[in-house]
Amino acid sequence: MNKGNLFVVVAPSGAGKTSLVAGLLEQERNVRLSISYTTRAPRAGEVDGVNYHFVDRSKFEAMIAAGDFLEYADVYGNYYGTSRRWIENELSGDHDVLLEIDWQGARQVRKLFPHMVGIFILPPSLEELRRRLQSRGKDAPEAIERRMASAREEISHVLEFEYIIVNERFEAALSDLVSVVRAARVSRAQQSIRLAARLGEFK
Ligand code: 5GP
Repeated sequence: MNKGNLFVVVAPSGAGKTSLVAGLLEQERNVRLSISYTTRAPRAGEVDGVNYHFVDRSKFEAMIAAGDFLEYADVYGNYYGTSRRWIENELSGDHDVLLEIDWQGARQVRKLFPHMVGIFILPPSLEELRRRLQSRGKDAPEAIERRMASAREEISHVLEFEYIIVNERFEAALSDLVSVVRAARVSRAQQSIRLAARLGEFK
């Protein structure tokens, strides 16, 4: 078993997942975020190697064939995947690892790491989600309808996760997320590895 936890955070687009994870990483220096590979084009302001590793389909397919991915999925017609080597290296240290992926990826990761901690970020309601997607002004109406349909699909898997955080007010949701990460760090499963020597003294 690893000393750190593996957190998998899933949410429909527009639920505020990226901002919540950014807020968590600011407060919790011991959490490392995996940077996924994707075949989708970078959006304005996105930087290769920071938001994603942007690759073309043939490179991605070569990586699949080489077994480079811990998990990968086709999301809205583009491939997304998590580097196996990166996760294995990071999990061997005493820090936590966090993946921001979709529900299909979360299922694949759970098969390999049954101890993973799954966290689902829910919007307060579907109407509120639609309002947030519209007010971002990033998407045309058809794209918003597509995102709403995939949000319903994503949300239908909410009960597969250990923790469910409702992002109604950002600060409250962030505090819930930080609490989950801190609680998992002091769980018996983790502490019995981290404190093995010290616990032995009490016998
Ligand atoms: P976006 O294109 O909006 O950045 O992400 C679209 C969806 O792909 C989101 O649900 C996001 O969580 C998911 N995603 C991002 N990286 C990965 C990954 O490495 N694996 C999987 N399975 N999904 C991912």
